[in-house]
Amino acid sequence: MQQKMEVGILGATGMVGQHFVKFLQGHGWFDLKWLGASDRSAGKKYRDAMHWHLAGVTPEAVADLVVEECKPGNAPRLLFSAMDASVATEIEQAFARAGHVVVSNSKNHRMERDVPLLVPEINPDHLKLVPGQQRHRGWKGQIVTNPNCSTVVLTMSLAPLKQFGITKVIATTLQAISGAGYPGVASMDIQANVIPFIGGEEEKMQQETQKILGTFRGDHIEPLAAKVSAHCNRVPVVDGHTVTVSVELAAKPSEADLRHAIETCRGVPQEKGLPSAPSRPVIYMTEANRPQPRKDAERERGMAAFIGRLRPCPVLDWKFVALGHNTVRGAAGAAVLNAELMYSEGMLD
Ligand code: NAP
Repeated sequence: MQQKMEVGILGATGMVGQHFVKFLQGHGWFDLKWLGASDRSAGKKYRDAMHWHLAGVTPEAVADLVVEECKPGNAPRLLFSAMDASVATEIEQAFARAGHVVVSNSKNHRMERDVPLLVPEINPDHLKLVPGQQRHRGWKGQIVTNPNCSTVVLTMSLAPLKQFGITKVIATTLQAISGAGYPGVASMDIQANVIPFIGGEEEKMQQETQKILGTFRGDHIEPLAAKVSAHCNRVPVVDGHTVTVSVELAAKPSEADLRHAIETCRGVPQEKGLPSAPSRPVIYMTEANRPQPRKDAERERGMAAFIGRLRPCPVLDWKFVALGHNTVRGAAGAAVLNAELMYSEGMLD
C-alpha cells in the first residue's frame, strides 16, 4: 500500500464513533483526518467535544482535530458512519449523493433493497448491489452497511452451516451493556439482573440474518428461506454478546461434518489478508464451558466469532453457543473490514 487513504467519521463524538477512532489508530491503509458530529460539537476540538468513554486517553492524533458539521463539503471520500439513527437517513444519503462512500453502522439503510448488508466472510458478492444503487438513485457515492451487533455473531456462526440447508433457527442472546451505548441501561436495572427486552432487536436479528445469508439476484437479495426466531436479553456483562443457537438443517449432517465445516471456514478477508481480518472468522472451542465473554471476546482483536458446545438438539437438529465482540465485530471493526474489502476490490479508487 503506497499512500494511506484519508477517511472521516460521521458521529465521531458518540460511543460507536469513539470505537471507530480507537480502531482506526495505526491502521495500515486508512488515515483518520476528519471528524463530524452535530452542531452542538462542531467548531470544538475533538477532546473538548466529547467525554472519552473507552480505556486509556483520547488518541493524540485526533484530540486536536476540530469537529465539523455533518454536511458534504471538505470531508474525505470515505466516511464511516456512527450517527444517531434519528438523523442518519438524511445525512448518509446527502453524503452518498455528493459522491462519498458511506460505510455505515447505523440501522437506517440496512434493509433497503439496493443496499448491501455486508459481512465480508459471508456475502462479499452482495457488494454487486452498489452499481444498481448508484444508477437508480443517481448517486455518485454509495452506502454500504454492517449488521446489528447480535446479528453478526449469529450469522458468522451460521455461515459454515449454510451448505447443509438451514431451515429453522432459534437464537437466544445474552447481550452486553456496552451494546446500549452511553449512558445505556441504568445500573439499578442491570446490576445482578437480566432484562428480557431490547427494543426492535429481535426483529432486526430475524430480518438481517435472512438478508445476510440470502442470495444475490441481480438487483436485490433473495432472503434465506429459513424461519428465524430470536429472543434478546440484556445481561450484566460489559463487552461481548453471547448467543445460544438451535438449528434445523435439511441435509442432516453428522457432528463430524459440522465440526469440519466450522474449522475449515475461511472467507475473502482471510484469502486477501485484509488488515482487520481475523486469522479465522469462526473459531471452535472444545472446552465444555467456553466461549465466555470475559475470556474470549477480545481474542483476535475482537474480530472473530467463537463457537462451542456443539451438541444434538432434541427439538431442532443441533445446538451450540456463539460469542462475538459487540462493539468491535458488532460495530466499528465490522465497518472497517467492509471498507477494507471495498478498497481491495477497487471500489474506492
Ligand atoms: P451516541 O453515543 O448517541 O452518538 C450519536 C452520534 O450522532 C454523536 O456523535 C452525535 O453528535 C451524532 N449526532 C446526533 N445528532 C446529530 C445531527 N443532527 N447531526 C450530526 N450528528 C449528530 O450513539 P451510539 O451509541 O454511538 O450509536 C451510534 C449509531 O450506531 C446508532 O445508529 C446505533 O443504533 C448504532 N449502533 C450502536 C451500537 C453500540 O454498541 N452503541 C452498536 C451497533 C450499532 P453530538 O455528540 O454532537 O451530539
